[in-house]
Amino acid sequence: MDERIYLDNAATTRVAEEVLQEMLPYFRENYANPSAIYSFAGEAKKAVGIARERAAELIGAKPNEIYFTAGGSESDNWAIRAVAEGLRDKGRHIITSKIEHHAVLHTCGYLEKQGFEVTYLDVDGEGKVSPEVLEKAIRPDTILISVMAANNEIGTIQPVARIGEIARERGVLFHTDAVQAYGHIPLRAEEMHVDLLSASGHKLYGPKGTGILYCRENVRLLPLLHGGAQERGRRAGTLHVPGIVGFGKAAALAGETMQERGARETKLRDYLIDRVLKEIPYTRLNGHRQDRLPGNAHFCFQFIEGESLLILLDQRGVCGSSGSACTSGALDPSHVLLAIGLPHEIAHGSLRLTLSAENTKEELDRTVEALKEIAGRLRDMSPLYADARKA
Ligand SMILES: *Cc1c(COP(=O)(O)O)cnc(C)c1O
Repeated sequence: MDERIYLDNAATTRVAEEVLQEMLPYFRENYANPSAIYSFAGEAKKAVGIARERAAELIGAKPNEIYFTAGGSESDNWAIRAVAEGLRDKGRHIITSKIEHHAVLHTCGYLEKQGFEVTYLDVDGEGKVSPEVLEKAIRPDTILISVMAANNEIGTIQPVARIGEIARERGVLFHTDAVQAYGHIPLRAEEMHVDLLSASGHKLYGPKGTGILYCRENVRLLPLLHGGAQERGRRAGTLHVPGIVGFGKAAALAGETMQERGARETKLRDYLIDRVLKEIPYTRLNGHRQDRLPGNAHFCFQFIEGESLLILLDQRGVCGSSGSACTSGALDPSHVLLAIGLPHEIAHGSLRLTLSAENTKEELDRTVEALKEIAGRLRDMSPLYADARKA
């Protein structure tokens, strides 16, 4: 289906050609285990070193502060559990927000069962955490603050630098899930005062199943996996060399292209948002108008079921998302949309369209035309819509 319009880049991206090419030799030519002594392993070992430098460079970190993982979920789990376990004698209170990714929320839920206490901060109508509210939530037994850099559903960018400043002043460790932000907006670990940061390769034109956990020097990180001495003894297991190389290349490319790509995506995104809001009635934009990820557009269409919208869009070749990873077709609306105060009936009509470097204005025009027609068709079948029109 070459007519496909892929607008679900927050779910995953296509591996960049340059990334793939750089990975390939590490499957069949330089396949040695980088831990080996013989010179044949030198190439793989060197490649891992370069990837670590590139991953660090993108956030102004040092290579020895980067741990390669199997993705964002693993990094989130590791960061939060390691801090909790390492500091449980100091305190058992964790602060996070209501709009985190489930990799953070469910890890916190697990820790609650282990005797920890978690404060889930409210966000405002645009999905922002208030640094003042956060500061008031800090207690003497608070050991960790985990607030995402940017939200994966509605795209809102959080004031992480301010949050980091507060955390540092109060002597509390700060973790940020930067999976959506890393490589898409500028992030400086040092300036943001983050102690731990999670990122994922497949959200930035790298391979799936790859990620990093940044852990600031002098912050104690308990091991995730026991066994070999890989990753400074904290994550045992033979390194996934091609994946690590791919992650590094994706990070390097992201650094080189971020500004230009961001500007282009922002312009296209605003074009899409403006057209949808202007041309389709009873529609709202979710998330912050300016402080949002360059490629993120997220709407709610009143009187429409998000699932139906997605199915009809799919028939036109448009890949979109309802925003939340709807496992098992659960009818529960997104926790993020409920947290920004949307009533259930509105939250159900959500649509997330997320752009990549490759999307074009023509694709967005075709998407808007399809949306207009589909929204009209679905609303014509809605008794609530008929009532609203009469009123
Ligand atoms: C995708 C995503 C994750 C999970 O990353 P994986 O690499 O898919 O495990 C975590 N947090 C956020 C914000 C995400 O968007």
